[in-house]
Amino acid sequence: MSALVGIITEKCPKCGKGKVFSSKGNPLLFRMPRMNEHCPVCNHKFEKEPGYFFGSMFVSYAVTVGEMIVFFLLAHFFVKEIVTMIVLIGILSVLLSTFNFRLSRMIWIYLLDGKNRQL
Ligand SMILES: [Zn+2]
Repeated sequence: MSALVGIITEKCPKCGKGKVFSSKGNPLLFRMPRMNEHCPVCNHKFEKEPGYFFGSMFVSYAVTVGEMIVFFLLAHFFVKEIVTMIVLIGILSVLLSTFNFRLSRMIWIYLLDGKNRQL
């Protein structure tokens, strides 16, 4: 299994079978995603030490800015007012917040912990 498939399907970097997240979270209900401490299949520990996922904030920042740029490039054909654009980008970033949280942690796990370190 390639790392990219593992990141998208949110599977364990060691065995490729166990789920990393026990719940996906919902930004509309103010629910954050929940991670399993250990892989349910191979018992691999995901959070090696306290603060292990600190660096995933930077990944999350890059992912979010990338989404904002793509949204802006697509929406600027339809939205002419800058205030409306800023509000729409704000709404988009809130709606994608749990997705970005999960994606950035998966990228971080596979960068530092994946058996196949190529993305
Ligand atoms: Zn596993």
